[in-house]
Amino acid sequence: ELVGYLSFRAAQLGNRYVLVTADDLTESRRIDEVRRDFVANISHELKTPIGAIGLLSETLVLAADDPAHVKKFATQLITESERLGALTKDIIELSRLQSVDTLENSEETSIDKVVQAAVDANEVIARARDIELVRAKRSKLRVMGDPGLLQVAVSNLIANAVKYSPDHTRVGVGVRSTKGFVEIAVTDQGVGIPESDLDRVFERFYRVDPARSRATGGTGLGLAIVKHVVGNHGGDVRVWSQPGKGSTFTIRLPEADPELTTALEEQLEE
Ligand code: ADP
Repeated sequence: ELVGYLSFRAAQLGNRYVLVTADDLTESRRIDEVRRDFVANISHELKTPIGAIGLLSETLVLAADDPAHVKKFATQLITESERLGALTKDIIELSRLQSVDTLENSEETSIDKVVQAAVDANEVIARARDIELVRAKRSKLRVMGDPGLLQVAVSNLIANAVKYSPDHTRVGVGVRSTKGFVEIAVTDQGVGIPESDLDRVFERFYRVDPARSRATGGTGLGLAIVKHVVGNHGGDVRVWSQPGKGSTFTIRLPEADPELTTALEEQLEE
């Protein structure tokens, strides 16, 4: 079994000694491999909508004289180009998150504002399926972070909760403080996730049910983005689920320490 890579170099020191140095290349090889896999997966994922757009456009030309067909194919064309747009957006977002591990726009951020913006972003799509987004009562908790990225993370969890739930159900969004951390929980009454898949849903392009994910416009990158955003903030994301009953995803972020923030600000001003 291969456990790692070492690179050796040897140099002669005078005629009695040989200096041998070893570099551990395991980590950089692993990163190379992950990058190669990502590029291979991206190519595969892009081929589906691009292929469909090509075919639909050709069919549209052939069906140009039949208004009913034109409408049908043009509508499918819009769906496929929207899919391509969403995929491109997520790929760019994820690449950006992977290339920086420091946060550029970090500030003391109200969790309430982040959660409210994420709920608002999903309100229309939830209402269309009579899914009620239930917000917990207001919270004064604050974290250090990039409000835009945090909103993307919470919004991705809410979007999934809605996407993988039947109509006329409820999605709850709660916030609480626990041992120096702020915890945001998103709970649904949806299809749930089999235990054997729980570990893998945060992987890029991993889907429990690929057909369902594609049919609902999923890119397979939503949870990978959440994991990166939360990781960059020194937090974590976890999931509990019961197939057929529903799922809960939680994001934990270190709670901002107001005294520390003030002290740092004063120091910076000096
Ligand atoms: P996708 O774009 O496919 O939704 P994600 O990375 O957001 O990609 O999620 C990965 C997979 O995890 C989904 O395809 C789905 O199978 C599963 N999943 C995510 N959230 C939920 C949820 N709330 N309920 C059930 N399954 C979920």
